[in-house]
Amino acid sequence: MAYEPVIGLEVHLQLSTVTKLFCGCPAKYGAPPNSQACPVCLGLPGVLPVLNARALEWGVRVGLAFDCEIAGTMKFDRKQYFYPDLPKNYQISQYDNPLARRGHLDIALGDQAKRIGIHRIHLEEDAGKLLHEAHATETFVDFNRTGVPLLEIVSEPDLRSSEEASQYLVELKAVIEYLDVSTCNMEEGSLRCDTNVSLRQAGEQAFGAKVEVKNLNSFKAVKQALEYEIRRQAAALDAGERIRQETRLWDAKALRTEPMRSKEEAADYRYFPEPDLVPFVLDRALVERVRTALPELPAARRARLRAAYQLSAYDAQVLTQSRALAELFEGAITAGAAAKQAANWIMGDLSAYLNAKSLEPDALKLRPQWLAHLIELIGSGRISGRMAKEVFLQMMERQQDPVELVNEGGLQQISDAGALEAIADAVLAANAQSVEDYLGGKTTAFTHLMGQAMKQSKGTANPQQISDLLKRKLEQVRR
Ligand SMILES: [Zn+2]
Repeated sequence: MAYEPVIGLEVHLQLSTVTKLFCGCPAKYGAPPNSQACPVCLGLPGVLPVLNARALEWGVRVGLAFDCEIAGTMKFDRKQYFYPDLPKNYQISQYDNPLARRGHLDIALGDQAKRIGIHRIHLEEDAGKLLHEAHATETFVDFNRTGVPLLEIVSEPDLRSSEEASQYLVELKAVIEYLDVSTCNMEEGSLRCDTNVSLRQAGEQAFGAKVEVKNLNSFKAVKQALEYEIRRQAAALDAGERIRQETRLWDAKALRTEPMRSKEEAADYRYFPEPDLVPFVLDRALVERVRTALPELPAARRARLRAAYQLSAYDAQVLTQSRALAELFEGAITAGAAAKQAANWIMGDLSAYLNAKSLEPDALKLRPQWLAHLIELIGSGRISGRMAKEVFLQMMERQQDPVELVNEGGLQQISDAGALEAIADAVLAANAQSVEDYLGGKTTAFTHLMGQAMKQSKGTANPQQISDLLKRKLEQVRR
């Protein structure tokens, strides 16, 4: 049977404000356990929460970036549940009056764009963290994360495949990075994602029973979990089974989902308006101020770069996916590099370098001028294309201007005729068989001689010059 997957994503984004959502505790990641917790975030009797104005403003910024309607009045609600990392036994969240609604995000699918609805965006506080690994038989709890501001971004169920879901996450992360409101670091948990998926027969309007999948710690996990669930549900439906509405956990080692619990309904949480916080009337002037100050977002930058530098859709996509890469690209051009070369270096050697080191582009400390200098060194013939790869690696490792590296390190291409002549003579003397083969008409023998010459010069010989020189000397031998 052919089924159509119906997928929605819930993204929890930790806002990187200095302090928590309702108290003055630092919200910084990585402090010693329980060193950043006060009576407010621990929910001790007699305390009152006070909303962090910056978190509210950043929430508005994110809402506007996704073209949402910003609420005129919003309120906070208590979501009750008992869990050891939740000291108050409730979470301050937003139920029926969220900060923002009805937005969208356009994702690129090849040359096509698809509009994915954003159902709602709301503010809530994070819970603490249970540390199961710290001890063999006991579990510890760290309340540093309790009360850190979260923004929950809920998509409409508009996604139809695991690829679309991946693309949505990539684009969403890019927008958030441009807005500079979160580190988006999945390993540190500042970007977390749950997904829900159901299947229906192709052409049908009604949705099937929805399964929520949690514990997705990477974009790859989201894709794998969705692919697994789509297969599992299709097999069950084919066998005439009913799909249970439930929450399942992704097991990244076994590569499968496991049942966790039957899905809670809103009523299970006993939502009621947070009595310690009044409803907030959002000042329209503030909203407009935030709107005016929005930076250029990835989609706009993509369109601008495509038009300005005749980039392909794919190149523009890759170059703007990360703000750091886009800025490197534009910075290198400002510093004199040709767009094509700058794009090639960023999408080629630089991307490979980032992959090999498992680095995010924003961890790069590469100055755009350095990239421009590297391109200039090749253009002027001071280094060969082959040497440039080595200079590139040195530049990345030593954090140094390639011009300095070349000047200091003797990496300069040998164009000095005397030095090249000595290399050519040595190679011809040491490879008598190849010389004979070449003179006997076996032209491939020349490749070997060239290779030897480049090797002897440690890759620094000017390839054109040494090639000319070898040919001239071989002709002399012939005569
Ligand atoms: Zn606190």
